[in-house]
Amino acid sequence: MPELPEVETIRRELVQKIKGKTIKDVEIKVFKMVNLPVFEFSKKVKKTKIKGIYRRAKVLIIDLYGPYFLLFHLKMTGQLVFVPKKGQAISGGHPIKNIGQLPNKFSHIIFTFTDGSKLYFNDIRKFGWIKLVEDSIYLLVRNEFGLEPLAKDFEYERFKAAFNHFPNRKVKQVLIDQTLIAGLGNIYADEICFCAGVKPTRVVKTLKAAEMKKIHKCIPQVLNFAILKKGTSADNYVRTDGSQGGMIPYLKVYGREGQKCKRKNCQGIIKKIRLNGRGTHFCDRCQK
Ligand SMILES: [Zn+2]
Repeated sequence: MPELPEVETIRRELVQKIKGKTIKDVEIKVFKMVNLPVFEFSKKVKKTKIKGIYRRAKVLIIDLYGPYFLLFHLKMTGQLVFVPKKGQAISGGHPIKNIGQLPNKFSHIIFTFTDGSKLYFNDIRKFGWIKLVEDSIYLLVRNEFGLEPLAKDFEYERFKAAFNHFPNRKVKQVLIDQTLIAGLGNIYADEICFCAGVKPTRVVKTLKAAEMKKIHKCIPQVLNFAILKKGTSADNYVRTDGSQGGMIPYLKVYGREGQKCKRKNCQGIIKKIRLNGRGTHFCDRCQK
């Protein structure tokens, strides 16, 4: 599932490509992926111009001139591909292998801009969605989520308060709770725990102040590094060699079950357990 770094990566790339463009048309093949009747949805977005692209948690927000915002959630298998009239396409979100010519059978929503370029929302499982909302709803959505880990106000005291809200929960449970901290999922929660030297199964109330501080510091550190590497899944479409996002070789624990720990001087082996139904990876030796 695309997490904060993957959504932020595609946001940064899209903003350069589609800001200022005008939507000529939208084709919706899977009706349940939009929040309004198709006719109403298209009527409202047609001829609107893109003012900006933001992100809140894992939600990508396209701000249109006028009263509307388009909110995109890629969920499990959503992918966005922008194809310019000329030049190279960009993509982000879930990697869909052998994507071939677009549109393909997964291209459920297609925006066409007045210059002929297109934005495809591909989704294998069709859980992704686009909501067209007005300002007031947009504000509600923004407030649904907890602390934004890359924002300036992601301060230690606020982070600690969010964490201590559930003293009996396990660290990973708190990290992936979108109402406390926004945008983290399975991959980066495991990576953050490794960075902090704390087991994902540790109970919050047993954390020492130094450990709590370490987790707080590791969150933006891990996320910013992943964004620098363009996430774990972005760019699949343009890389014809089939390679995935640049972050994969740098993952320390996620997907490394049975392999040697990458921490210097640690001889541990990465373990995988299930924590509340989610595959969870850690080093038994250097994570306490
Ligand atoms: Zn280790």
